[in-house]
Order: sequence, then C-alpha cells, then structure tokens
Amino acid sequence: MKKVLKNVSFVFLLLQLCIIFGQETSAQKRIVIDVGHGGKDAGAIGINGIQEKDVVMNIANAILKLNDELDTPLDIYLTRYTDTLISLSDRTKLAKALNADLFMSLHCNHSDNPNARGIEVYVGDATSEYSDESTWVAFQLQYTLNKKLGFESRGVKFSNFQVLRETGGYCLSVLLELGFLSNWDESEYYQKLESYQVLALVIWKNLIKKYKSDERVGNKNH
Ligand SMILES: [Zn+2]
Repeated sequence: MKKVLKNVSFVFLLLQLCIIFGQETSAQKRIVIDVGHGGKDAGAIGINGIQEKDVVMNIANAILKLNDELDTPLDIYLTRYTDTLISLSDRTKLAKALNADLFMSLHCNHSDNPNARGIEVYVGDATSEYSDESTWVAFQLQYTLNKKLGFESRGVKFSNFQVLRETGGYCLSVLLELGFLSNWDESEYYQKLESYQVLALVIWKNLIKKYKSDERVGNKNH
C-alpha cells in the first residue's frame, strides 16, 4: 500500500511557531479536550491491535505537554487524565462548568473497508450561535492536518453527536476523527511516538493561531 502520511519533523514544525509567537494573548482561552472512550470502552481496535482510547489519550497528553512547555498560552483541561470511562454527559458538564471557550472531542475512525482513511471533523447543529465559528475551526484543522501531515480530508460534517449537541450552545465545539485504525498505514502511524508530537503540535498551533487572529480583529466573543 502506498504510504502517503508525511514524515514531518517536530522541530521543523516547532520552528514555524516563530511566525505566530511574539505577542502574548491578553486573556487566556480555556480549552476542554474530550479524550474519547476509556476504561472498559476501548473504542475502535486497530488492525494492528492499537486501541482508540489509548491513541486519543496520547494525543491529548501530547497537546497538554506541549502547552506546558511553551508557557501555557492556553488553559487546557482534559475530560479524563487516566484510562477511565466518563459518561458523555459528564464530559459536556465539565465544559460548561469550566466555562470553556472551546470543546474539542478526540476520536479515531474505523471502517470495514481497510482502504478508508483520512480525517473527518464534525460540528453540531448549524443553527447554534457558535456554529459558524466552530465550522471555521473545523475547516482549518482539517486543512492543516492535510497540508502539514498528509492526512486525507474527508470533509467537515454536521452531526447530532451528544457531546456536540450538549456543548454547541455554550462554546465552540468540534469532534475530530483522526484517521482510521482499520487502515494499516494510519494505525501504524500511531505506533510511533513522534506522530503524537507532530499531531499535537498541528492541533495546538491551530488553536493558538485562531485566538491570536481573533485578538487582532477585536473579536470579543471568543
Ligand atoms: Zn470514538
């Protein structure tokens, strides 16, 4: 099978940050990262045995670590920090209780077709106050994950997923399906530590860029 995911250097991506750093955000934005599944709910099982609950935990931890190492420009919380199962409603309650600016749910996909691959980003109800902005965040995430890492784009989609439905009226809200564990290339990608580092960096940079540009245009909402 043709391998299309890029081998991207973490250091190279990190150096590109110089472009967007240089000014401190005045108000730290609060991000709740929903780490999908956990405990007895493994989520999708990869063709190589890797489990979705572990993949998304690793991605979330990598984002958290990166943010800490770079002087915590974002105020990031996870819905779970260990391998435990949290109900969907408790995940969304946390986002509301913390008054989050953005709720981002992390998942991986699975298909009976081993050739299915790429990234889907979901947003909730198109009528919610935050829908347009969430859709923009979703497009940006998909675009950069394709451009920087080579993940195929499968589109931004609307869905009535519970976590999106329950957070969509409170804050920006997106759900990421970060590749297919049923695809050999994409499940093998998650066997490598560097994959988590570069993926975390691309996602984190998206958030930083969003809130920096909001400041420049004086967007007071988020
Ligand atoms: Zn999932």
